Amino acid sequence: MIPGLLQRTPLTLDMVFERMRGVYADGRVADHEWETTYGEVADRILRLAKALTEELGVRPGDRVATFGFNSIRHFELYFAVPLVGAVLHTVNVRLFDEQIAWIVNHAQDRVLFADGSLLAQVAGFAGKLETVEHVVRMGHGADERLPTVFDHDELIAANDPLEDRPELDEDAAFGLCYTSGTTGDPKGVLYSHRGMTLHSLAACMTGHIGIDESDVVFPVVPMFHAFAWGLPYAAPLAGAELVFHGADSSPDNLGRIIEQHAVTLSAGVPTIWKSLLPALEAGEVDASSLRLVFVGGAASPRALIEPYDRLGIEYLQVWGMTETGPLACASRPRRRHRGLSRDELLDVRAHTGTIFAGLQARITDGDGRPVPNDGVAVGELEVRGPWIAAAYYGVDADERFNDGWLRTGDVATMDPDGMFRIVDRAKDLVKSGGEWISSVELEGHLLAHPAVADAAVVGVPSRRWDERPVAVVVPVDPAAAPSLEDVRGFLRERVVSWWLPDALEVVEEIPKTSVGKLDKKVLRSRIDTVLD
Ligand code: ADP
Repeated sequence: MIPGLLQRTPLTLDMVFERMRGVYADGRVADHEWETTYGEVADRILRLAKALTEELGVRPGDRVATFGFNSIRHFELYFAVPLVGAVLHTVNVRLFDEQIAWIVNHAQDRVLFADGSLLAQVAGFAGKLETVEHVVRMGHGADERLPTVFDHDELIAANDPLEDRPELDEDAAFGLCYTSGTTGDPKGVLYSHRGMTLHSLAACMTGHIGIDESDVVFPVVPMFHAFAWGLPYAAPLAGAELVFHGADSSPDNLGRIIEQHAVTLSAGVPTIWKSLLPALEAGEVDASSLRLVFVGGAASPRALIEPYDRLGIEYLQVWGMTETGPLACASRPRRRHRGLSRDELLDVRAHTGTIFAGLQARITDGDGRPVPNDGVAVGELEVRGPWIAAAYYGVDADERFNDGWLRTGDVATMDPDGMFRIVDRAKDLVKSGGEWISSVELEGHLLAHPAVADAAVVGVPSRRWDERPVAVVVPVDPAAAPSLEDVRGFLRERVVSWWLPDALEVVEEIPKTSVGKLDKKVLRSRIDTVLD
């Protein structure tokens, strides 16, 4: 420490917690069952912290798993576990039993907190868990196969607030999250206190997401999907109130919550905003409080951004990954876009955006050589910074980590001022005759077709071209499904002719992953043809 230098207080979630409990104690927190304040939640968190250490034997560095939907109790664990120096491991409840058991065993979780409503599911894989010593129930529910469970609220009632909290190291781990495995086996990303604290500050910046005390924040993104994109930390840091919705993500329920709690800011994958749109457009939901939705996890088509714009709700596209802590970029227009028409601005906002302050982004040819930032050349997007993964948990080496940069597996173009556009996931690009076709771009155009309700494009083996694009669409009206010729005619005005799909499949529903993205792995396995 250099004499005379500024103080060096550690950047830990303690800082977020103290601000929530002191400055914003009167802030409301609500879920599907009850409503309280940050002040009361802070008291419950400290009691839970005591229960964790004294009753459940949790020590610094231990992993504590959660298995639940978005709720106040889950939020309490977001703080209680890190505040005692332990690691919060949020498990995706929508995986198969085998995957869940694999992840929990890999993480060596010692305690598992599960929603009461999910105890039957837990009982199904409990026999496969090798390290879990205690199961704690959150809320109501029981399963006779799990007789000896603790109860979250009883633990809180039976314990005093923890007084002697350990001094936290900003470089210690606070959380563990596994990728949802859209393109491979799940891999764990270990989040640090420092990373999430800086992430929260960055997310609150107006040029990024922009959150403040006047906001009511509603994360529709599950708390098991990349820490609900950090909102359970960013919101209380900024003093914004929080609303959680439990297990029911139906458009009816989401609409009701937005109206009832006068939500101002919400977040989720594009599928969520697509499902809610009809009710908003029909005026069935009073969404006059809603100023901003931010949307990531998959590319947002212009056809979805535009109707929100018309409704006066700002639709902000964000990009991130479990490995990027999780938010890393937002699609806010730049100074050079001043004066553009509304229509032109929609195109800008359909771009992926600019990397957050604190992080860096570049595109390379895959061997670490930079590709020009001219908005045309494509390369693999690489990022680095204090909330970007440096390795996978428990994995010695991985090709994604290269000279301190994370190779994202996303292919992008970059403008001279750093604004980038994701063209596709490298694995989803359709490689046709030595050139590539963007499945994301084709999907975006297909969704603008008036007879198409949902769409996906996948590469299918071709004898002549290696791969050719096949469009899979869900029609708005099953009796009036578009034909291949219709679709090709519509696309012909928007893309070059060799991008036009060679085949069209009309389906009732497109398979989605556990976090609501198009499941291209499943789609490819279902399309069992070889084209000429
Ligand atoms: P999984 O890898 O299991 O899908 P993640 O949620 O970590 O889990 O997914 C991150 C990936 O999601 C990114 O690498 C990218 O391909 C995609 N993605 C996220 N946001 C966007 C966006 N705004 N535009 C395009 N793709 C996105």
